[in-house]
Amino acid sequence: MAGQTGCNFSKFAHWGRNIVAVGRNYRDHCAELGNPVPTKPLLFTKPPSSYLVEGEGPILIPRGCSNCHHEIELGVVVGARCRDLPSDPPLSSLVAGYCLALDMTARDFQEEAKSKGNPWILAKGFDTALPVSRFVPKEELKDPSAVRLWCKVNGKMRQDGTTADMVFSIPYLLAHISQVITLEPGDLVLTGTPAGVGPVKPGDVISAGLGDLLTMEFSVAQRE
Ligand code: MG
Repeated sequence: MAGQTGCNFSKFAHWGRNIVAVGRNYRDHCAELGNPVPTKPLLFTKPPSSYLVEGEGPILIPRGCSNCHHEIELGVVVGARCRDLPSDPPLSSLVAGYCLALDMTARDFQEEAKSKGNPWILAKGFDTALPVSRFVPKEELKDPSAVRLWCKVNGKMRQDGTTADMVFSIPYLLAHISQVITLEPGDLVLTGTPAGVGPVKPGDVISAGLGDLLTMEFSVAQRE
């Protein structure tokens, strides 16, 4: 399995207590879903039970979901305690490394929750809703503020973006989150997705890549 080359992410997955994600952090993705570009980060969490390490099995579409979307994202693996960080904190001392992640989203569950003003936990937090690549030590990713990330479904390109298009930078996000939630080593911050999100169905294969550092692949199945 790809996770066995280099450091296996699963040890971070089991260390981390918190997974904090930001929504609508790329302008082109805001536009495609008809949402305004936020003036401050829109945050939500995913539970650690949603992790899926490459090689451990398929993404399972939850029962009752008929519109499950891929969202390719750069994940930031926290390397030091982050509490009340100053603005523009130094990334190198706070970050252990990175991963490529899929913020799988039951879009129909999310639309229902949004319409009722309810939380997104079922839409974003179902089992296998967080497929992750191997862990990438920070030394391997020279410039996380300008790295390509792409996502294909059955070999067809769906998302092809760059982290240079983020609305809120990684240092900004860490500082902002740390004012309210203390991040600890092993915690994960998901930094949002570029345009091109779309549905997957049982039998599909999602492949994705981060710069020239790694690729990952997950199959999709229905939760029986
Ligand atoms: Mg997302």
